[in-house]
Amino acid sequence: MGTLLIRNGYVIDPAQKLSGHYDVLIEGTRILRVEPKVTERVDRVIEARNLLVMPGIIDMHVHLRDPGQTEKEDIYTGCNAAVTGGVTSLLCMPNTRPAIDNRETIAYIQRLAQKAKAKIYICGAATKGLSGEELGDYEMYRELGVCAVSDDGRPVESAEQMEQVLLKAQQAGLRVVSHCEDLAIVNGGIIHKGSVSEDMQVRGIDRLSEDRITQREIELAERTGAPVHICHVSTKGSTELIRAAKKRGVPVTAETCPHYFAYTHEKLRSQDADYRMNPPLREPEDVAEIIRGIQDGTFDCIVTDHAPHTKREKMDFRKAPNGTVGLETSLAAGIRFLVEPGHIKLERLVELMTLGPARVLGIEGGSLEPGMAADLALVDPKAFWTVLPERLQSKSKNSVFKFERLQGRVKYTLVNGEIVYVMRY
Ligand SMILES: [Zn+2]
Ligand SMILES: [Zn+2]
Repeated sequence: MGTLLIRNGYVIDPAQKLSGHYDVLIEGTRILRVEPKVTERVDRVIEARNLLVMPGIIDMHVHLRDPGQTEKEDIYTGCNAAVTGGVTSLLCMPNTRPAIDNRETIAYIQRLAQKAKAKIYICGAATKGLSGEELGDYEMYRELGVCAVSDDGRPVESAEQMEQVLLKAQQAGLRVVSHCEDLAIVNGGIIHKGSVSEDMQVRGIDRLSEDRITQREIELAERTGAPVHICHVSTKGSTELIRAAKKRGVPVTAETCPHYFAYTHEKLRSQDADYRMNPPLREPEDVAEIIRGIQDGTFDCIVTDHAPHTKREKMDFRKAPNGTVGLETSLAAGIRFLVEPGHIKLERLVELMTLGPARVLGIEGGSLEPGMAADLALVDPKAFWTVLPERLQSKSKNSVFKFERLQGRVKYTLVNGEIVYVMRY
């Protein structure tokens, strides 16, 4: 078992409340020590002067599209994109084809995951085939190492059924992650309902579609005592509901995504479907409230909702499927839109992308404490770069941040002590 020293970096590790110059000593697959100066002989050294050394990012909302839609992404390309963005662990969503609701599909993902560059955690289907009807086999999920359940891509429509999901998942020790959307209110809408949808004369998605189900999930969690995690929050209303619920002690956690704090529905005037995702980009007041939620602890994590779609699918503005890729840009978007304008400190951003999701999911990682897996990202936090879609590692190029100038470039990514990514240009 060789030793590897990451020397002279600026370490941020929220789990140990570290923020300063430290050396990180790795032995084999694990962190051995983090100290101001490691002087012993080591096998290999990475010189990290002027680099941020942080725990690897945990992205708990990723669509890998494998099995079934590998023209969009597959397990390997998705994980290559992940490590390019400093993401060392991800939770893959179950709306694959077939859905992740059976032994064979879980075994298939786990088999490919062994050769993938990032660690894959699996989110099983809350209901079989994401049908909203029969519950998935949660005991089987647990036995196979699945760590969460969701019907993401769609809501669990019936409140009674959702209550069962919460109770049964709690018994099985699985996290419930909820995509909050009232389909009756969405009613064919494709962008946020507001001045832009009116000007463009396209059907809009009212904030209420999201807020009503956020409210429902909070009520169910409050009543049953079973925890719920709210996905991809985009509205001021949902942010306020979650904040108030947390104050009352409801077991609710929440995530938001870079596009919701970076952009508004004005992007849609370009009629470019790469700016269409679900929930949609909203208004300045939503962005402001989401940033407040990021500041005050309403949000536990920042995730990408990485949702690859092919160029061909994204060509037709009105008919295109929803989603943006995000794995390669999330950290840089966080630095550019949250840290640089002074909304939060870099330490808080790191926490939201590492320790936060590790805690929500109850998985290892998100920390550089001795004994932890040596999953790290080494980042040049001052480097500016322009997002060029064709250079993305993801099979799909539908990035909401395309041609944006972001700040912060991942130079090295390590998983289990192994260098799985080195920046090449
Ligand atoms: Zn969703
Ligand atoms: Zn999703």
